[in-house]
Amino acid sequence: MKIKFHGAARTVTGSMHLLEINGSRILLDCGLFQGKRKETYERNRNFPFDPSKIDAVLLSHAHIDHSGNLPNLVKQGYPGKIIATRATTHLVKLMLRDSGHIQESDAAFVNKKRAKKGLPPVEPLYTLEDAEIVAGHFQSVEYDAPSQVAEGVRATFMDAGHILGSAGIALDIEEDGRKFRLWFSGDIGRRDLPLLRDPVLPVNADYLIMESTYGDKAHRSPEKAYEELRAVIQETIERGGKVIIPAFAVGRTQELAVFLHEMITAGEIPTVPIYVDSPLAINASQIFNEHPEVMDEETINHIREHGHAALDFAQINYTRSVEESKAINDYKKPAVIISASGMAEAGRILHHLRNNIEDPSNTILIVGWQAPHTLGRRLADRETKIKIFGEKFNRKARVETIGGLSAHAGRDLLFEYASAVKDQVQKIFLVHAEERGALPLKKELEMNGFKAVYYPEPHSVFEI
Ligand SMILES: [Zn+2]
Ligand SMILES: [Zn+2]
Repeated sequence: MKIKFHGAARTVTGSMHLLEINGSRILLDCGLFQGKRKETYERNRNFPFDPSKIDAVLLSHAHIDHSGNLPNLVKQGYPGKIIATRATTHLVKLMLRDSGHIQESDAAFVNKKRAKKGLPPVEPLYTLEDAEIVAGHFQSVEYDAPSQVAEGVRATFMDAGHILGSAGIALDIEEDGRKFRLWFSGDIGRRDLPLLRDPVLPVNADYLIMESTYGDKAHRSPEKAYEELRAVIQETIERGGKVIIPAFAVGRTQELAVFLHEMITAGEIPTVPIYVDSPLAINASQIFNEHPEVMDEETINHIREHGHAALDFAQINYTRSVEESKAINDYKKPAVIISASGMAEAGRILHHLRNNIEDPSNTILIVGWQAPHTLGRRLADRETKIKIFGEKFNRKARVETIGGLSAHAGRDLLFEYASAVKDQVQKIFLVHAEERGALPLKKELEMNGFKAVYYPEPHSVFEI
């Protein structure tokens, strides 16, 4: 078998690994690479292989950095199935439509500028229509149920506890009379996250491809994140300001909603309006309510006791239409606004940042990892000159960051994850991390007797 690490290799985004087994080519994830616009466009448009020659795609979860280039793959000739859990197939269709829409408006924005310079227009990476075509390729599987995905390859999806539908994938392979198990972690979640079940640790893996985003640090506990979030909200409300939170529409937004609900019910924060201003987040919350198989026990009990869906409560305002979204600007009193995208690169969050960034009573709250060169990263780095929609702003709003809300495993759980197969594992490949995440984990694993830990270069090939 060959493994080619084409994406999320020495970086976090664009997850994509190609396996060649028994003459079949299996793609693990097909994520969108996110970064500087020009580099991003080129990288996403040109696959390092022929999409029409791929036999199967296995998708770990719906996040765009894992699924977002599927429309392009299909557009460029991929004819086969995309296999994922039931909740993922449900969710990812929605996310890809949203991404298609973003690609179109992104291209329109660039083309407006190009037209002024007399340059020819660029094509969007893919369109809403391209994204809709992908829907016909999905095939859903249940957790823990093995299925044959290629000759001599059975795949079992295990709950990764990261977002709705997320999975690690165990591949049981028989090749040239040799039997072995390759385990692809996908993104590893955390224990005790609101809503979701805990991640399943690998079992009997001979080879392990694992994410290591936070290999360098232990997260603060979700309870600590809860306390910090509460403090930021209390302080901002006292100043009469708004809390603006760029958040992934799927996962983070729902976690925040659960926390805010708890704070309000416990009387810990004043009852201020909470706006979830992202159609995708609203739909994702609905999809979540339809998939009890991904919920932890606490959530199921909560639903039973309260008689309403986990993500619906009186103070939360889900704003669907553009008019409703714009009306939030007219609301001059304290409020919490959660909007996408999570790295503030696109979406309605840009309008909220533009309208609130120059007011010192407001707080911009960063609740997740921000890719280099994104607006979210510039805000997290507390830059004061900020460009939004090509317009310059002086940031006077405060910026606070909270780490404990991450949906990714921290150093300790990553170490535990690898240790679960220590007696058997022959090679570990660390992916989905910048150097500062992967190298400390690599060192720690090596110091603890793991012999072959790799941090593969982009497009590097391993024969196993
Ligand atoms: Zn993810
Ligand atoms: Zn990811």
